[in-house]
Amino acid sequence: MEEIEITRAIVETYTQRLNEALESDVIVVGAGPAGLAAAYFLAKRGLRAVVLEKRLSTGGGIWGGGVGKNIIVVKDAEVLDEIGVDWEQRGELLTAGAIQLAAALTYRAEQAGARILNLMQVEDVIVKQGHVLGAVVNATPIMMARLHVDPICMAARNVVDATGHDAELVNMLRRKLPDFYPHGIGEGFMDVEPAERGVVERTGEVFPGLYVSGMSVCAVYGLPRMGPIFGGMLNSGRKVARLIAEALAEE
Ligand SMILES: Cc1cc2nc3c(=O)[nH]c(=O)nc-3n(C[C@H](O)[C@H](O)[C@H](O)COP(=O)(O)OP(=O)(O)OC[C@H]3O[C@@H](n4cnc5c(N)ncnc54)[C@H](O)[C@@H]3O)c2cc1C
Repeated sequence: MEEIEITRAIVETYTQRLNEALESDVIVVGAGPAGLAAAYFLAKRGLRAVVLEKRLSTGGGIWGGGVGKNIIVVKDAEVLDEIGVDWEQRGELLTAGAIQLAAALTYRAEQAGARILNLMQVEDVIVKQGHVLGAVVNATPIMMARLHVDPICMAARNVVDATGHDAELVNMLRRKLPDFYPHGIGEGFMDVEPAERGVVERTGEVFPGLYVSGMSVCAVYGLPRMGPIFGGMLNSGRKVARLIAEALAEE
């Protein structure tokens, strides 16, 4: 075995995967619970989903669970059962291991056919004739080093902002389209019931071709924050996959 063969195997495989990811049905930005759930359910419906994650690891805020303890809480077991995560009943709530959830979501999303590219940061969106049609992407190390290096472009019929509290893609649009709603971004005070309900109810398209899922929904609509409960994130990801599949089917 030659060292160069190892390198060649990596370069060839990655290049092929990146090339395939350049055009897809849906780009999901952010591999937190909402983005990964969206990718899993999109892929399960037979759609080509690409997840772009700026960090080295997938899972977003899952790993920290609540107060840095690796346990997450949900209200129903539907998504956990679907992806094969063990859970325990705690009164009206269910608990599960954060590490198992992050690993299972990542594994099941890729196994279902989604392509996850980590260390890839979305720095802009592509908008043509009033429709979001892709993402402008750069490697995270390049962004961190603030190097003046051009990005690459990836095309998709739909893009999901699953970037969490910062709703980064929605903010990118706001900066360029002054008339674009919402005019301010940020969550309200903690209030778990309306937040868990609202994050799923208001998951959807905010601009032609741009959907919000997970905590970015709270940020965009000023919903209350809900603390360390993750069911809304998973159900939001599942819902955005259904909405996009229905929209694509109509097209
Ligand atoms: C300060 C703080 C407050 C919290 N408050 C709440 C709360 O109020 N309610 C609640 O339910 N949970 C809260 N959590 C817990 C947890 O973070 C969230 O519930 C959950 O992780 C949100 O899921 P998400 O999928 O929407 O986003 P996240 O888990 O945050 O995942 C977003 C992912 O997008 C990636 N990303 C961001 N921008 C880009 C980009 N430009 N390109 C590529 N990738 C990108 C991030 O690296 C991250 O992996 C909080 C966590 C913290 C640290």
